[in-house]
Amino acid sequence: MQSMDDLFYAFLQDIYFAEKEQLKVLPNMAQKSANETLKLAFRDHEDETSEQVARLEQVFDILGREARGKTSDAMIAIIAEAQRLIDEADDEAVRDAGLVAAAQAAEHYEISRYATLLGWAEHLGEDEIVELLSETLEEERHADELLSSIAEGGVNATASERPEEAEV
Ligand code: FE
Ligand code: ZN
Ligand code: FE
Repeated sequence: MQSMDDLFYAFLQDIYFAEKEQLKVLPNMAQKSANETLKLAFRDHEDETSEQVARLEQVFDILGREARGKTSDAMIAIIAEAQRLIDEADDEAVRDAGLVAAAQAAEHYEISRYATLLGWAEHLGEDEIVELLSETLEEERHADELLSSIAEGGVNATASERPEEAEV
C-alpha cells in the first residue's frame, strides 16, 4: 500500500465483494420474509444492488484498475448471521424482525464504507467518482430508513406479541 490511491482501491475491492455477496443472499431474504412490505423492500434493494455493482465497475474503469473484489470478512460475518437467523427462527414474525436487523447491519456497513470512499474521492479530486458514490450512498441510506420504518410499521409489534397467559 504505497499511496492513498492504493488504499482507495483496496476499500473499493472490499465493497465490490460485499455488494456481490449481497446479491447472492437478498433473493433468499426476500423469499423467507413473511411481511409483504419487507419482501418487496428486499426485492427492490436487490435491483438497486445490481446497479450499485455496475456503478462500482464504472469507478474501477475511471481509475484504470481491474474490477476485482477482495474478501470482506465483515460482510461475510454479517451475511452468516442473517443465514443463521433464517435457519433458526421458528416463528415467522420473529424471523422477520431478525431479517430486518441483519439487513440493517449490512446497510450500516455499506454506509460506513461509501461515506469513507466518498470523502477520499473528494480529497483525491475524483469528481466523477464522487458523483457515482453519492448516488449509491443515498440508496443505502434510503434502504436503511425504509427498513426502520418497516420494523416500526408492524414487524416489531407482531414479533413482540406474546401468547396469551395460560388460564389457571
Ligand atoms: Fe449496496
Ligand atoms: Zn476531508
Ligand atoms: Fe444496501
